[in-house]
Amino acid sequence: MTFDEAGLCDTLNKNISKSGYVKPTPVQKHGIPIVLGGCDLMACAQTGSGKTAAFLLPILQQLMKDGVAASKFSELQEPEAIIVAPTRELINQIYLEARKFAYGTCVRPVVVYGGISTGYTIREVLKGCNVLCGTPGRLMDIIGRGKVGLSKLRYLVLDEADRMLDMGFEPEMRRLVASPGMPPKEERQTLLFSATYPEDIQKLAADFLKPGYIFLA
Ligand code: AMP
Repeated sequence: MTFDEAGLCDTLNKNISKSGYVKPTPVQKHGIPIVLGGCDLMACAQTGSGKTAAFLLPILQQLMKDGVAASKFSELQEPEAIIVAPTRELINQIYLEARKFAYGTCVRPVVVYGGISTGYTIREVLKGCNVLCGTPGRLMDIIGRGKVGLSKLRYLVLDEADRMLDMGFEPEMRRLVASPGMPPKEERQTLLFSATYPEDIQKLAADFLKPGYIFLA
């Protein structure tokens, strides 16, 4: 599969070319069709494998195809996708990739992490946001305050899940999926990325993903 054959819209293909990406990496080649097909995914992928584009591109494609982002952007927009990653550096990198790929579309990504003022991040989210990127602590902080509506949520991505467990973020991850308004796993698409696949990650996958999820190694 080439990027041209992936079934992505012209704007996304243009933004991919502008990024200098010519050929999909293996996790993109296999992951993009799985996510476009609507399946839950547990992918073993290392940093540097191209995993960020593997989940961002199909999510952006679907948001533009039949999501609210297909119409005019609204200030009241609640997130349609939430992406969680363990560190500021990583979530910021994901946010910048999301902005790059969403350039020229109605999709507005927002990033939240500790260190930026809570008031500022809440204002940014309330300006409207399709793709909310955050570290577990800050995400749970603003969701717990009832500042983020989850009724439009269709995609949940947990990136570097093994590092999140190592850093002690399991309670935040479990609270996130159990948040009031969070669609149950049957009604959302969940993507789990992890460099390793030990027992605790297998348990997380069993709890967060729909039975029959696809495993990609
Ligand atoms: P990631 O594993 O998503 O953190 O990506 C690692 C690095 O590879 C980032 O700098 C990306 O911009 C770059 N990258 C991702 N996919 C491709 C691709 N298909 N072609 C060239 N570079 C890529």
